[in-house]
Amino acid sequence: MKKNIENYPLKLTGENIPMVDFRNVSKAYGDLVVLDSLNLKVEEGEMVTVIGPSGSGKTTVLRMLMALEKINSGVIYVDGEPLSHMEKNGKLVRANEKYLRRQRAEIGMCFQHFNLFPHMTALENCMEAPVHVLGLTKKQARERSEELLDMVGMLEKANEHPSRLSGGQQQRVAIARSLAMRPKMMLFDEVTSALDPEVIGEVTSVIRKLVSKHNLTMLMVTHQMGFAREISDRVCFFYDGKIEEQGKPDDIFENPQKERTQQFLSAVL
Ligand code: ADP
Repeated sequence: MKKNIENYPLKLTGENIPMVDFRNVSKAYGDLVVLDSLNLKVEEGEMVTVIGPSGSGKTTVLRMLMALEKINSGVIYVDGEPLSHMEKNGKLVRANEKYLRRQRAEIGMCFQHFNLFPHMTALENCMEAPVHVLGLTKKQARERSEELLDMVGMLEKANEHPSRLSGGQQQRVAIARSLAMRPKMMLFDEVTSALDPEVIGEVTSVIRKLVSKHNLTMLMVTHQMGFAREISDRVCFFYDGKIEEQGKPDDIFENPQKERTQQFLSAVL
């Protein structure tokens, strides 16, 4: 039974609230149902990887978390707060643009194509949103950005423009730029698939570092099965807008229970 938005809690309270909580979320483009009453939780500090065939709705999940897509039904809570919705007179209603902008600023996203601002240096790229969105002073934003560029191994190239950087280097700057907003969580969408094979490792090692040292909540879509297996706390296999199977990486990769998971893995591994 589909619930009306008004019947969902205004916010989630109590201990151990998940960082992300999709409740019966559906999304369609015209007649095409892309997410079908999806329920998905990501706990605080958890690294969850989404795998599955092309067109199964993986990117849509990330885009919905960035409030870039309208939800047709259901509610997504981020850190207990309903995404894309706000409270009005004790009820949930669709959020206005200002509210959406604030929510978007709390989630970091890195895409396959890094989209750095071409006319700014690596450092300026990182400083831009902390200054203009968070209202940090330039000095504060510079300190924060330099620390992050150092973390991703790009401090030496801080004053270079993107056109002078390799794809792997640009992607590392893009990760630092997202982190400079101190997001509640990071979303990674195929961040290595546009890269030359020899530079994939420098990007995956930054993500590995974020998992092992920074305990950041992350949701990652990837075709790199070995990396997903190594790095994830949990792997979700998507099929036709639903989670067909999920579990610990070793269980999913070594002993998948569902036929569709078995077929997918035997085709890609
Ligand atoms: P995946 O990431 O698993 O490849 P996507 O979430 O990108 O899948 O897409 C799921 C389905 O939704 C695909 O069939 C895709 O063609 C369709 N789709 C995605 N975005 C749009 C859009 N803006 N308009 C219409 N169809 C879309």
